[in-house]
Amino acid sequence: MDHLPPHARKATRAIHAGQAPDPTFGSLAPPIYQTSTFVFSSVEQGAARFAGKDPGYIYTRLGNPTIRMLEDNVAAMEGGYAGLATSSGMAAVTTAYLSLLSSGDHMVGTEALYGPSRTVMEVEFPRFGITSSFVDTSDPEKIKEAITPQTKLLYIETPANPTLKLTDLEACAHIAKEHDLLLVVDNTFCSPYLQRPLETGADVVLHSVTKFLNGHSDVVGGILVARNEELHQRLRTRLVSFGGIMDPHQAWLVLRGIKTLPARMEWAQASALKIARFLEEHPQVEWIRYPGLESHPQRDLVLRQQDGPGALLCFGLRAGFHGARQLLEGVELLSLAVSLGGVESLIEHPASMTHAGIKQEERETAGITDDLIRIAVGCENVEDLIEDLQQALSAVQSA
Ligand code: PLP
Repeated sequence: MDHLPPHARKATRAIHAGQAPDPTFGSLAPPIYQTSTFVFSSVEQGAARFAGKDPGYIYTRLGNPTIRMLEDNVAAMEGGYAGLATSSGMAAVTTAYLSLLSSGDHMVGTEALYGPSRTVMEVEFPRFGITSSFVDTSDPEKIKEAITPQTKLLYIETPANPTLKLTDLEACAHIAKEHDLLLVVDNTFCSPYLQRPLETGADVVLHSVTKFLNGHSDVVGGILVARNEELHQRLRTRLVSFGGIMDPHQAWLVLRGIKTLPARMEWAQASALKIARFLEEHPQVEWIRYPGLESHPQRDLVLRQQDGPGALLCFGLRAGFHGARQLLEGVELLSLAVSLGGVESLIEHPASMTHAGIKQEERETAGITDDLIRIAVGCENVEDLIEDLQQALSAVQSA
């Protein structure tokens, strides 16, 4: 449906994949098919569509041309069979859980997952007879130790949120194959611009498109991309039945956002590196972790697995949580807000915000210490961001 050459590179795919000029009026920008249903020209046509013999549209929960453009675009960027857009990132996460696990099954996941992705599994899924173990997946041995005869799914987030610890995707694909598990990767932090887990053997990739893909902090949404048709159908059946689909207008906004993903990502990660170097040298800063710094303990893996270090960094101050609090309230240009991947730079405190639902003991084992501050770097001028951090840090006093 699009007219991309098969070898089109990432930035070209972001702008054109899944979209062709509108055949009715030639509109360059994709039309928004803001409709709940589609008219059939005859009873035969309606019946043929329901029977799957005519590929035309039926009803927006089952499919819609604007949503389809987004699904085709992200599937092309991830290198998957097809995409499935969802109403939120959590709808993508729970669709994966509900589609790929059954009563009696067990899942192994990254311990420092996005908080609600872990909490929903630990709190809600035991009611359906599904159990889980969350381990440090950066160590392949820990994954192997956690696998039981009931394990069916390996669920990874890399780099992990908010610790920025990487998990080796190739090693995970190998383990998954050996133990007959499905491998699902939450690729929100990198976006397909920096990392494409399906290329290294993952079965399903998912995103909170709320973050880098949309990029403008004005949409909540998600997407799943499966490696093959069989997995796509397993996910699609549940998504359309449980109903957590995306809306056409939401899909249009995300498509619009993705066109600038490469430019935003390049800009934000260049700024993130400068900010990380500034923080690394600052006397108030006790520790910092950023995949672009030589000091990141998994630098080799960063270079092997990612096309760039990304725009997230985390650090702690010598003044601990007390100092973090002053910094978080002292910044003026950075916004004290959760989320990431937008053009605005955000700063947050995971232990009391995004990861507050996880027990303190488990948070600490996962490295989400009380002093940890996360910054999601946006697209403002980097000197302005550094000046803001500088002024807020100079006001930090020890307890
Ligand atoms: N996965 C990751 C890595 C996230 O950071 C988030 C949200 O912050 C989600 C999933 C959930 O996405 P949403 O908030 O769009 O439901």
